[in-house]
Amino acid sequence: MNPVAQAWAYTLARVAGLAALGVLLGLMLGSVIAGLLVMLSIALTWQLFNLYRLDYWLRARNLREPPNAGGIWGQVITQVVRLHRRKRFHKQRLLDVFRELRHSTAAMPDGVIVLNANNEIVWFNRMAMRLLSLRRRVDIGLRISNLVRDPRFVQFLDKADFSAPLEVPHANRDGLALSFQVVPYGRQQRLLLVRDVSRQVALESMRKDFVANASHELRSPLTVITGYLETLVQDTDIDPMLQGPLGEMRRQSDRMNAIVRDLLELSRLDAGDAEAAYDTIDVAGLLAMLNKDVTARPRHPQVLLSIESPAGLLGDEAEVHSVFANLVENAVKYTPDDGQVSIRWWVDAQGEAHLSVTDTGMGIPAEHIPRLTERFYRVDAGRARTTGGTGLGLAIVKHALEHHGARLHIESEEGVGSTFSCYFPARRVWQGGRQSTIDAAR
Ligand code: ADP
Repeated sequence: MNPVAQAWAYTLARVAGLAALGVLLGLMLGSVIAGLLVMLSIALTWQLFNLYRLDYWLRARNLREPPNAGGIWGQVITQVVRLHRRKRFHKQRLLDVFRELRHSTAAMPDGVIVLNANNEIVWFNRMAMRLLSLRRRVDIGLRISNLVRDPRFVQFLDKADFSAPLEVPHANRDGLALSFQVVPYGRQQRLLLVRDVSRQVALESMRKDFVANASHELRSPLTVITGYLETLVQDTDIDPMLQGPLGEMRRQSDRMNAIVRDLLELSRLDAGDAEAAYDTIDVAGLLAMLNKDVTARPRHPQVLLSIESPAGLLGDEAEVHSVFANLVENAVKYTPDDGQVSIRWWVDAQGEAHLSVTDTGMGIPAEHIPRLTERFYRVDAGRARTTGGTGLGLAIVKHALEHHGARLHIESEEGVGSTFSCYFPARRVWQGGRQSTIDAAR
């Protein structure tokens, strides 16, 4: 028999024994009920006494020894002691894990700040304290936007999109740049990660400066070489054997000039503000000019221009020109002369403006589409060389569109054709365009 069953049997046998004694006593005294009552009262008092001892011990079980009782009371006390020990063990383990976690987060090389739903500081680690000059007790409970006052940071916290981190220069320390990342968790809690990205920012700026300077330095010698080649190609006295190589040298120097020009344009885009200006741009006029440029060439695919809205754009004219010219130029470049290029400009019901350039050219295999806007990325290097492309056109397009809060979407099917579409947000649409410019474009 297991100990619990044994304890119950012992307790019940004791009650039964007392009841039997009660009956005997009753028979001797002439009243069985009275005898039973006396003995059962004794049994009840004993149980109450044990209950009292248990209660007394439970009230301060860490300080007192458990009572020594037999029967079922002994079993109950043993169970309580066991539960208590198990609880203490788990509590200690949790405490150890928690302490470990706190120590490791405190020692993390990144700043960690726990924010509540109101963006008030709940906790932060040592690195956050160092990077943001926080004070342990004083700053707990304060709103983080009262301590980091950069308007870009305040805007970043207010908008709910935390897919990309925010990089801002440190307000009080020159040359220090911080990156902020928000990770929402639990019930509207937020983890704010702060990282010192000064080194990456310095390297990035060095890279940009290097590309800009190298392109700039290459420009002068290239102009000299191109000039001499031009003269030599036109020189009728030159050995006819050299005409071929000279022509090729000139084509290649033209390409190098185009690459340098595009690199300088990308550098300018890199160095500019994140947001382009809001100058008015006559899109219909711009597209009409691009159309004229293409159709004036001796060989070109058919170009259909469809301007469905008189609206223009608010932006940087040179950048928008560059976007449209690159897309039209690519469509013409990668479409055979018996193909067709359709340029469409319209504004939708939400007020967003769209430009789409569709061609019936060679198309692009699906796996290349996501990488087309990378610098020097080409679907087919041989093809690009023969068409004279620089590999920078779509990188410029992407950059310039980002400046305008606009997006580029590419759809293409190999052997069928491609559509490059730009979406401009409503705030970039200028409703002041004139119908007459559309008529002129036609
Ligand atoms: P490139 O100066 O070489 O044209 P881009 O950055 O403008 O460089 O384009 C990158 C690559 O995308 C091109 O090399 C070309 O393979 C492909 N591409 C761009 N536009 C088209 C198009 N309309 N049709 C087919 N391929 C295209």
